[in-house]
Amino acid sequence: MRKSLVSAIALALALSAGGLMAAPAHAVVDGASLTTTQLPRTVRPTHYDVAIVPHADKLSFDGKVTVDVQVLQPTRSITLNALNMTFASARLTPAHGKALVAKVSVDAKHQTATFTFDKSVAPGSYKLAMAYTGKIETQPNGLFAIDYDTKSGKKRALYTQFENSDARRFIPSWDEPAYKATFDLTVTVPSDEMAVSNMPVASKTELGNGMAKVTFQPTPKMSTYLLFFGVGDFDRATTTSDGTQIGVIMQKGKSAQAAFALKSASEVLHDYNDYFGVKYPLPKLDNIAAPGSSQFFSAMENWGAIFTFEYAMLLDPSFSTQGDKMNVFNTEAHEMAHQWFGDLVTMNWWDNLWLNEGFASWMAERETELRHPEWNTVLDTVGTRESAMSRDAVATTHPIVQKIDTVEQASQAFDTITYSKGEAVIRMLEAYVGPDAWRQGVRNYIKAHAYGNTVSDDLWHAMDGVAGGKPITQVAHDFTLQPGVPLIKVDSVVCSDGATTVKLTQGEFTKDRPNKKPLHWHVPVIAQVVGSAKASTLVDGHATMKLPGCGPVLVNAGQSGYYRTLYAPAQLAALKGDFNKLAPIDQLGLMSDAWAEGMAGLEPVSDFLDMAKAIPADANPTIWSEVAGSLTALDSYYRGDKVRQTRFRAYAVKQLKPVFARVGWDAKPGESTSTTLLRTQLIGALAELGDQDMLNEVRRRYAEQASNPKALPAALRKTVYAIVAVNADAATWDKLHAQAKAETTPLIKDRLYGLLSIAKDKALGKRALALALTAEPGATNSAGMIRGVGWRHPELAYDFAMAHRAQVDKLVDSTSSTRFYPALGGSSFDPAMIGKIKAYEATIAPTARRPAETVIANIKYRTMIRNQRLPAVDAWLEKNGG
Ligand SMILES: [Zn+2]
Repeated sequence: MRKSLVSAIALALALSAGGLMAAPAHAVVDGASLTTTQLPRTVRPTHYDVAIVPHADKLSFDGKVTVDVQVLQPTRSITLNALNMTFASARLTPAHGKALVAKVSVDAKHQTATFTFDKSVAPGSYKLAMAYTGKIETQPNGLFAIDYDTKSGKKRALYTQFENSDARRFIPSWDEPAYKATFDLTVTVPSDEMAVSNMPVASKTELGNGMAKVTFQPTPKMSTYLLFFGVGDFDRATTTSDGTQIGVIMQKGKSAQAAFALKSASEVLHDYNDYFGVKYPLPKLDNIAAPGSSQFFSAMENWGAIFTFEYAMLLDPSFSTQGDKMNVFNTEAHEMAHQWFGDLVTMNWWDNLWLNEGFASWMAERETELRHPEWNTVLDTVGTRESAMSRDAVATTHPIVQKIDTVEQASQAFDTITYSKGEAVIRMLEAYVGPDAWRQGVRNYIKAHAYGNTVSDDLWHAMDGVAGGKPITQVAHDFTLQPGVPLIKVDSVVCSDGATTVKLTQGEFTKDRPNKKPLHWHVPVIAQVVGSAKASTLVDGHATMKLPGCGPVLVNAGQSGYYRTLYAPAQLAALKGDFNKLAPIDQLGLMSDAWAEGMAGLEPVSDFLDMAKAIPADANPTIWSEVAGSLTALDSYYRGDKVRQTRFRAYAVKQLKPVFARVGWDAKPGESTSTTLLRTQLIGALAELGDQDMLNEVRRRYAEQASNPKALPAALRKTVYAIVAVNADAATWDKLHAQAKAETTPLIKDRLYGLLSIAKDKALGKRALALALTAEPGATNSAGMIRGVGWRHPELAYDFAMAHRAQVDKLVDSTSSTRFYPALGGSSFDPAMIGKIKAYEATIAPTARRPAETVIANIKYRTMIRNQRLPAVDAWLEKNGG
């Protein structure tokens, strides 16, 4: 699964944060009070034969399922997962003998159904047959409907979303990843619509009443959460790669928008067949695009039938940007990596979710670097690591491998630690053992566990076999079983006889516990004298490294390490002097550490500001993107303090304007991707910083494109629209609203509704909130609008959501709700917000409170920065002509 990247939020963040300083944590929350533990181990399913008849108009469906089960111990009852279902019948038939009729009892709280028999059932093989009815949801949990506009009117399509625990809304089932089974799916659907599932269609029988019965080929053995079914007025475009049929499926008439996704999928499949050493095992691989969005996810790796929201798969030539294109590729590469890591080999339980997500994130990054070196995405790995370390350095963090008891805890596990720290740690381990040995370990692991389930140690054992004696399990355990960020302190640097001796000590970097006793890690460290060869060591508390050459020493050279580096002032001064000799990735790494350590009080804030000030206008565009992001992030801390903010803005604009003058409004032939991305970043940053020249030009171009669409190239359209939306007055907002209403392409329409939520004007924020409660934006888009308002008006959005809780609950997928509500208040500086979130926490299960606690920790941290660090920024501005 790929985490949600809903565009309104992404746009708001692009304009006002990002950079080295992570935005307020993406938090999530859940209303139900489950204490679900795993099912009793007395019965095991081996095969499901399922027949579903959806009634799309009535939002309900009829289901019949016969499950082949093995009863392992004598039992009077069988318990499985079921949610929001009504059972008409249930019978258990032995291989020989009479069927037993079961009495059904449903436990909504634990999401189970129990079938009780008159007498004890002996161990052996049985068929458990059930007839039931279920609900079609309006949010992506279980079988759900998406309504969307087309030029020929409204349409409704159906899809399923089961991860982490929603297959139980579709089939009464053993809905845990370890219960792998095969599935035969038959559906009764309108004859003129296309039905799609994990496997190709085996047969289609017309029923004569406009309906057809479609049966799919049996699936391989797999976990319930990977089953997929979709039906609608679709088109399918295909190609083949290494003999596998690759398809893209989307609403009718949009196949041109999926051309890039189709071509990319074909390339990626070929590369992965090679990397994993096991060929993709299914006869086809579809990628299905759907309008709408979710607060929880943007794409899902159903085996052979990847589901993706349109914004992460389709490209519209009039609206999509380079960033969108990169996101399409990365999303696809992520979901396709899961076809092996997740689908073929599956974690045993959600406590090892990172085996899926950390790995898929790392693999997607690797594949993007391989196929599109011109995008220079290797520099993005620093940002990924930063977002992980930012989250990992507060008290509410958790280890990558963590205890999961409840459904909510499993949902909450889809977080920055699982994805981004997981990715960063794999990157470090790969660098530690070497890429060839790492790939051999992966191949051995996949081969040994195909169609099975694993825990993290299965991967480490495979790596131990290829790591040439390096203590990979030790290092991996340190970084996956304990939380937190190591801090490597450079104690001394001594040069003699043309070589440098460096002494290192390991501590721990925290943002909110300055007196914490550090944990202990074995940290693989790579270092170099700037301009000389790299050397590596494993820091076990302390280490002494001998480096060739004399000069400033760079620790974490190449930035593969998951740790921060703290230099003594003289060492940092020497490095700053050689800043322009560092590789761009190391420039980013050094700035990230200076920023984070400055904010945490480990070094003066001026270190980062000096560094940012000294960067030449022709530095790598990605470095300038980071500077622009950091300056706008710093600006957000001045919110509400007009005098100081004005002075800061004057300085920030003065720094960024010459860079924009070089980049310009119009793309130059053959310019780098990083320059294209920097252009929109600078336009957004200068507008956010209130640069009047920029705002005037944005307004001019927006006005002109109304009569001349060519006045605004697609590459700039989203950015210009977002700035206009942020700075909208009532008349402009009304115009955008009318445009959103009239738009018939969901890919664009969904984004326009998002834009209505990001205005600075509070009165317009209120109008956006009211609009979100109506049916107009589309049932899955409203939650994103409420989040959009929360970015600039956290108190308004939070209070509104709490006051309309029953209505808002229906707009949020159940997998997200315990994160959604606290996140609305996340950008607040008001101490009262902490009390409000605590009041909300009291209404949810204690086991579901971590996201709320994390939002509170971040509000406290940001308040500390505002009170304690901004005065140092002011003093620096005083000295540096701010
Ligand atoms: Zn994933």
